[in-house]
Amino acid sequence: MKNILVAGGCGFIGSHLCDHLLQRSDVGLCVVVDNLWTGRKENLAHVQDPRLKIVVTDVEAFQSDVLFDEVYHLASPASPPWYMTEPKRTISANLLGAMRLLHLLKPGGQFAFTSTSEVYGDPLVSPQPESYRGSVDCTGPRSSYDESKRCTESLLFEMRRTEKLNVRVVRLFNVYGPRTRPDDGRAVSNFITQALAGKPITIYGDGMQSRSWGYVDDIVEGLARFFWRDQHGYDGPLNVGNEREIPVIEVARHIAQLVPGTTLVHRDPVPQDPTNRRPDLTIARKVLPGWECRIPYELGVQLNLEWFKDHLKAGGPDQQDVRVA
Ligand code: UDP
Repeated sequence: MKNILVAGGCGFIGSHLCDHLLQRSDVGLCVVVDNLWTGRKENLAHVQDPRLKIVVTDVEAFQSDVLFDEVYHLASPASPPWYMTEPKRTISANLLGAMRLLHLLKPGGQFAFTSTSEVYGDPLVSPQPESYRGSVDCTGPRSSYDESKRCTESLLFEMRRTEKLNVRVVRLFNVYGPRTRPDDGRAVSNFITQALAGKPITIYGDGMQSRSWGYVDDIVEGLARFFWRDQHGYDGPLNVGNEREIPVIEVARHIAQLVPGTTLVHRDPVPQDPTNRRPDLTIARKVLPGWECRIPYELGVQLNLEWFKDHLKAGGPDQQDVRVA
């Protein structure tokens, strides 16, 4: 039976990944390490499985007597206002987190890491293939996230080269869906929670910047296939996202139309906000034949709206504008 470690397992994507991992009959123990910075215990409150153990601590400080057959490193904030507020902590969670977790991997075990489409920065080519080296400002306001993801990729791929480390690295593109924090601050959840609170939807800049929005169920299905289900022999990096690219303003208008009476308001553009983002899925199609994002954003947004309606308590955190200037 396998010992599994999920760093960031109480988070939005981490908790969905745990649900999939616990469906496996070869998993004897699934330890989640999470400091609840952006993750929440509620995200795993539905799990009754005795194989799941949650340890609340910083991933960089995590100690364990057991070594793990598989380590999944998702311990990082992913929303710009959150990582921009605490850049040092963001770099630490990604890079020092990976350094620490490597000590807890059994020899020959597999180390999986969720990197990001932010490694492409404000891309000058579209769609972005994994071979694109990106356009990132290492002194810019997004750099704590972008560069710590890039450096952690470097750590893992270089350890593969020098020590034959068994790695799996994915680059995720704008994931949304149930279990996002109401005060997360990213576009889809922000727009929905604003609309449900009767507040105007905040569009940063003209809203013509575009993203490829992936519903979490589709994305985590891709992760499960890439990390453990399929036999493919490809370590990564692998783009995992939705090919359909949609401007922010269109998403805002769509959500406004679902919640009658909602208005839109434009705010100052965010410094260095990427203008576009779209995955080239050529490798994904070869490595994971038949996998693609199946849930169109119209349906995904509807599902996410229903979820927020059920989960938002009156008087919850103010989501009106959590942007960092
Ligand atoms: N955005 C926006 N209003 C919001 C939140 C986000 O206009 O309330 C924009 C943001 O400036 C960016 C896009 O939506 O252009 C996606 O932002 P998000 O934070 O979701 O993801 P990321 O910037 O990391 O792609």
